[in-house]
Amino acid sequence: MPEADLMISLATELTKIRGLRPYFLERLRTLRILTVRDLLFHFPTRYDDFSAILPIAELVPKIQATVCGEVKKITSRHAWRRNMTVIEAIIADDSGGVRVVWFNQAYIAHQIRVGLTVRLAGRVSQGKDGIYFSSPAYEVVHSGDAARHTSGLIPIYPETKGLTSRGLRYLIQPLLSVLDAIPDPIPYHVLARQKLPILIQALSSIHFPKTLDEAKLAERRFAFEDLFLIQIMNARRRLNTVREKALSLAITPEQRAEFLSALPFRLTEGQITCWQEILTDIGRQFPMQRLLQGDVGSGKTVLAAGAAWAAFCNGAQTVFLAPTEILARQHHETLSLIFKSSSLQFRPRIGLLLGSHTATLKRDTKQGGAKGRLDILVGTHALLQGDLAFHRLALVVVDEQHRFGVRQRAALLKSQDFMPHFLSMTATPIPRTLSLTVFGDLDISTLRELPQGRKKIVTKVVDPKNRDKAYAFIREELRRGRQAFVVCPRIEEAETSTNGASHLKIATEIKTVTAEYQRLAKDVFSDFSVAMLHGRLSTKEKSRIMADFALGAISVLVATSVVEVGVNVPNASVMVIESADFFGLAQLYQFRGRIGRGEHQSYCLLFTESQAATARDRLGVLIKAKNGFELAEMDLQIRGPGEFLGDEQTGFPDYAMRAMANLELVGESKREASLVLSRDPELASQPLLRERLKFFEAAVHFE
Ligand code: ADP
Ligand code: MG
Repeated sequence: MPEADLMISLATELTKIRGLRPYFLERLRTLRILTVRDLLFHFPTRYDDFSAILPIAELVPKIQATVCGEVKKITSRHAWRRNMTVIEAIIADDSGGVRVVWFNQAYIAHQIRVGLTVRLAGRVSQGKDGIYFSSPAYEVVHSGDAARHTSGLIPIYPETKGLTSRGLRYLIQPLLSVLDAIPDPIPYHVLARQKLPILIQALSSIHFPKTLDEAKLAERRFAFEDLFLIQIMNARRRLNTVREKALSLAITPEQRAEFLSALPFRLTEGQITCWQEILTDIGRQFPMQRLLQGDVGSGKTVLAAGAAWAAFCNGAQTVFLAPTEILARQHHETLSLIFKSSSLQFRPRIGLLLGSHTATLKRDTKQGGAKGRLDILVGTHALLQGDLAFHRLALVVVDEQHRFGVRQRAALLKSQDFMPHFLSMTATPIPRTLSLTVFGDLDISTLRELPQGRKKIVTKVVDPKNRDKAYAFIREELRRGRQAFVVCPRIEEAETSTNGASHLKIATEIKTVTAEYQRLAKDVFSDFSVAMLHGRLSTKEKSRIMADFALGAISVLVATSVVEVGVNVPNASVMVIESADFFGLAQLYQFRGRIGRGEHQSYCLLFTESQAATARDRLGVLIKAKNGFELAEMDLQIRGPGEFLGDEQTGFPDYAMRAMANLELVGESKREASLVLSRDPELASQPLLRERLKFFEAAVHFE
């Protein structure tokens, strides 16, 4: 147990605390718990209720129960075959006795002795010799100890080898009593208004609550704290943006009309609104930071072209970045098509820069950008890593990369004294809570409808027993000349992941693209041309396969999620998704968006082996939801923002991530943050908050 030290504060390193055993320090270090603060902010994931103590005679299998009794017998042995230590004990109260088994926790034999009174909480199992407790949480009850942690709720911390919840409780409790005043970064009036506990109180409540309500309120405070910090961070970033200089790309009504007349169609009302939002932003002398969201095919590229047009009218350049070469080519084609219109008096010159281009071509294109011979340069995100220079770059358009850091932008600006405007485009609908938090420093434009009303796609969940029927149906479609996508979750059988064993199991259970490809090509669609597409193929191979599929030379394309951001193949009318329950709704929605793009009725078939009601309900949502936004919102509630943001490493603490799903609290935090900042934009009177913010911002690599 750590000894009280007069000078302990949140910043105190745990190594400085007398009485902390090296063994604990070692384990804490692996959890990156180095300071008192780290330790106190290592929160329990749940609480076991020790308050309702059952008479041992009333135990029945499969329940979660707490009992209190005397240790009658305890033995320790080594199970050689399984190479583990097994501790067995008999605990008895007035009503009877029960067997208890612990695996690989040899130290328990040193703590629990015959004659001691213990409390146990855990699951009751049914063995062949009757019921028993399997590795329950335990606590020795000393007389006069007033059952330190066992009366009421027991915090259970995330498991780590050699560091038990019990051990953590023994470390944390004395620290809390030593630290009777912890400076609180959140202004007191904010907490008072929000009816939230001050920091020391909240810490005490979250580790040792008397009731679940008390724990909930503490959780709310910490959730609020993270959201509040995010809101302040966003607001300050916005302030900083306004202070930066950008080239105004204002255009005249004539120039506006000229662009519209170059289009082979009329912009929808939604497009006009979004374009106007963009034009207003880039007409200013500080950089735009805007995210344009809209389904695949909603006409975002045209608006990006409209923004590039404004840059061109001002004698400035645009760089347009896409995640893949396929998409970069596609954007290049779209832009070329628009800007070759004869109704334009002057036409922007457009260059395409791809990694697969020859060195000479690349050099020429780059020089075109640097010397100002090109007005628009299209390429992949990877372009940024290169030595790119511009003559007068004023606009950066980025497809499917939500953020584009100040540093990244600066890299494009070798010798300019202004920042480019930034327009990011995404087909992933962003739930409202996230647009107010993770994306809170960006302005958002939304395209809600598609230009040409799409045919409704028939979506069905297919039972394993109906698989053959589904294949017969697909063959029928193929015979009519249609094409099909088959999406599988992983590349190879049993691909290991950092999460270890449990993941491995999932990976072996789910359909894998290679195996599925072989099966479909050989057995199911042997009379059609079948191809496979996955992330491990070279860019060249991928492009070739996609091109063949687009031309119709390939009938069935078996793919991993690489088709998610993909190309337009209007003739594809079937989307099969294997192990559909494995994917997030937003992702399924994206897959489905690949079909129904032409004149043909299209079908999305969700294959699942899962009989779980939750998985089926979730897939049912995909059938019911009216649009991508509704889906994204539901997906966020079900899977949390981490899943939603996918590979994007946000660096936000878990707590903040979970808090982001709470729209009400997000709203409150935003309100409080702007109140505080409106009175004190520099936070001059809030040194603690400034300090905390620095800490928080350093952890978040989202910029
Ligand atoms: P996104 O980038 O949002 O996926 P695109 O900008 O590529 O969508 O547009 C999809 C297709 O719809 C393109 O062929 C585009 O020319 C066309 N399109 C865009 N806006 C309209 C419109 N207002 N009316 C008709 N067709 C449009
Ligand atoms: Mg697009």
